[in-house]
Amino acid sequence: MPQTSVIVVGAGIVGLSVAYEALQGGAAVTIIDRDPEGDKASFGNAGGIAVTEVIPASVPGLWKKVPFWMLDPLGPLALRLSHTPWLVPWLWEFARVGTAIEVSRLSKALAEINSRVYDDLVPLFSKVGLAGDLFRKGALTVYESENGLKNDKHAWDAKRSLGIEIQELTASQVREMEPALGPIVKSGVFMPQWSHVTDPKKIVDVLRNWLVANGVHIVRGHVERVKPMTNGADVVLKGGQKINARKVVIAAGAWSARIAKQLGDRVLLESERGYNTTIASPGITLEREVIFADRKFVATPLSIGLRIGGAAEFGGLEAAPNYARSKALVKLARSYFPEMREEGCVEWSGHRPTTPDSLPVIGRSRPSSDIIYAFGHGHLGLTQGPTTGKVVGDLIFGRKPPVDLAPFSVARFSLKKGSFYDSPDFFLH
Ligand SMILES: Cc1cc2nc3c(=O)[nH]c(=O)nc-3n(C[C@H](O)[C@H](O)[C@H](O)COP(=O)(O)OP(=O)(O)OC[C@H]3O[C@@H](n4cnc5c(N)ncnc54)[C@H](O)[C@@H]3O)c2cc1C
Repeated sequence: MPQTSVIVVGAGIVGLSVAYEALQGGAAVTIIDRDPEGDKASFGNAGGIAVTEVIPASVPGLWKKVPFWMLDPLGPLALRLSHTPWLVPWLWEFARVGTAIEVSRLSKALAEINSRVYDDLVPLFSKVGLAGDLFRKGALTVYESENGLKNDKHAWDAKRSLGIEIQELTASQVREMEPALGPIVKSGVFMPQWSHVTDPKKIVDVLRNWLVANGVHIVRGHVERVKPMTNGADVVLKGGQKINARKVVIAAGAWSARIAKQLGDRVLLESERGYNTTIASPGITLEREVIFADRKFVATPLSIGLRIGGAAEFGGLEAAPNYARSKALVKLARSYFPEMREEGCVEWSGHRPTTPDSLPVIGRSRPSSDIIYAFGHGHLGLTQGPTTGKVVGDLIFGRKPPVDLAPFSVARFSLKKGSFYDSPDFFLH
């Protein structure tokens, strides 16, 4: 049988994981990226294997909290005014899925994919030499009040019902686990299934180098469009170069909607820019990732320092970053870690590829079954990357994927005849 040729567009954690599975299946694999080794969401994220995150972002009652978050210009959520008109269809869908019935459906889909994460991630890490880079130490969510847990009871109960393990902790139990936390913390929740990595950039670098050492070809180029052909597809690069393959996978993170649009597939995908600061010498140690529920940010002990990050800024792909947000997160962290020093701070920001229903797009494109989508992982790309790779590998080789892919299909964004946004192509940016 001739070897299947596979092109993967995008060398982030998702594209590299897909390339890994395609290679395992015996394909001749080419990755195309305009900057294969360069900065991207997969480099600078918080490093959490956040398998317990199974509730979508849009939930009933969220709208009551949004105005308070937006009042603070450096708060957890921001919309750039100039981008707001483009955001309307995305926000519309975000609001539409914030009902109890939709949240239940979407949570089940997230729980199904997340329940597989270690089955796919652990073998991949072992094979490429990253076994020692995963710390299965759980994570702590902390609250500034004793009632914090009660206020979020609905979400914790929903998680429990989906198989997430949760241990409620008093303030002294929290500090026993993480002595660096100050008296501001009054209660917490331990989630033993969570884990974190040494450094997300190391994960991507080691995986990419392993793939190259094992025969994957990397092409530096900007993909302008993908064209379905009778047998496979052509990938057209800026400058006109054309590369053909039997299967083409679009894993271009937050930029994927542009390629999908040109193929005729409507996708609601936005850049949700996040920020962080990594403190090389913080003067404190943490055993595990800490999530600050009241202030919506996290701290992860990476091999390169303490990474403090969060924020969700919707400003499009072209807006300049506002690093005042990275600084604001460090300021917040000071109130939780009284002994923290700020020596050797590196600020960073990156584009989360975010859909309104918090589900990634995984599955075949509508114009061609040889073109497969693997993007839109939002806050969970590092977590779900290897499982996405496994599932897409199954699609490439015609095997039945271990996850029901119906909720992840691009078809969910198609305009129904007569719907509010039926006509204007204006919105398909
Ligand atoms: C602040 C922050 C914290 C986060 N924390 C976590 C976390 O703790 N756990 C977790 O699981 N996830 C986390 N995430 C999310 C995670 O980082 C992303 O979901 C994930 O990295 C997306 O990976 P990707 O491969 O899809 O995209 P990317 O990493 O963005 O890679 C996309 C690649 O496609 C290339 N590309 C794009 N367009 C083209 C084109 N036309 N031609 C050629 N190449 C192209 C780009 O150059 C890039 O290399 C976080 C994200 C942020 C921003």
